Amino acid sequence: MPDKPVALVSGANAGIGLQVARDLARHGLTVLVGSRDLDRGKAAAAEIDGDARAVQLDVTDQASIAALAERVAAEFGRLDVLVNNAGVSFLGDPATPLAERARAGLFTEVPIDVVRRMFETNVIGPIALTQALLPLLREAPAARIVNVGSGGASLTLNADPADPHRRMFGIYSTTKSALHAATLGFAVALEPDGIKVNVADPGFTATALNNFQGTKTVEEGARHIVALALLGPDGPTGTFSSEEGPVPW
Ligand code: NAP
Repeated sequence: MPDKPVALVSGANAGIGLQVARDLARHGLTVLVGSRDLDRGKAAAAEIDGDARAVQLDVTDQASIAALAERVAAEFGRLDVLVNNAGVSFLGDPATPLAERARAGLFTEVPIDVVRRMFETNVIGPIALTQALLPLLREAPAARIVNVGSGGASLTLNADPADPHRRMFGIYSTTKSALHAATLGFAVALEPDGIKVNVADPGFTATALNNFQGTKTVEEGARHIVALALLGPDGPTGTFSSEEGPVPW
C-alpha cells in the first residue's frame, strides 16, 4: 500500500481537470492524470509539480476503464479520490460560436446520435468509471468522489420562468442533470461505506468547453472541486454546491 493518498482525475490533460490535478498534487497526493490521448496526458503530467502520472482513459471505452482499474489495483491497491471531470458540451466544429452551440443543443434541434454520445461521455462514462473503481475506493480509509456538474443544469433554476439562462437548457445541461441524479444515487448507496460523493459546480470557467468565454480562471473553477475532494470526516455527502454555497438540484 502507498503511504501517500492516490487520486484519479478524468479529462485531466486540459482545462479544469488539469488544474484540479495540479492542485491535488500540490496537496501531496499522487495524481493519476486521466487522458484519452496518453501523450497529451504525459505532457500535462510533466508540467505538474509533485507526483503526477499520466494514464490512458477514455470514459466511453469499457476496455480503457478496465485496464486503468487493473493498473491502479496493481500499483496502489487503493484509490482515495476520484474526480469525474471529463465532459463534452458540444460535438460539432469547436470554432462554432457559443450561442450557436447552445441553439444546436436544444431538444428541437439536436440529432439523436448526439444525444446518445453526450450521454455516453457525461453520464454513463462517470457511472462506469466509478463502478469499476469502487473496490479500490473501498480499500481507502476515507474515499471521496467528486462529480463535476453544472449550475446551468439545475432543474429547479431552469423551471423558473424568470431564469435568464433557461433558454439554453438543452442536451448538455440535461446530461449534467442526469449526472447530478446519479451522484445522489451513489452517495446514498455508499453511505454505509463512509465514501462521500458530491457534485461540484465549477462556475462559468474559461476553457475549450465554451470557446474560452468563461468568466472564471481555471484556478478559480478548480477550487471547489478540490475542496470537495479533500473533505474531512465531518464533510457532507450527497450535496450539490459551488464555491458560493448550495446549488438547487
Ligand atoms: P475542457 O477543457 O474541454 O476539458 C474537458 C476534458 O474532458 C478534456 O480533457 C477532454 O479530453 C476530456 N474528455 C472529453 N471526452 C472524454 C472521454 N470520452 N474520455 C475521457 N476524457 C474525455 O473543458 P472543462 O471546462 O475543463 O470541463 C471539465 C468539466 O467541467 C466538464 O465535465 C464540464 O462539463 C464541466 N463544467 C465546465 C464549466 C465551464 O464553464 N468550463 C462549467 C460547468 C461544468 P480531450 O482533450 O481528449 O478532448
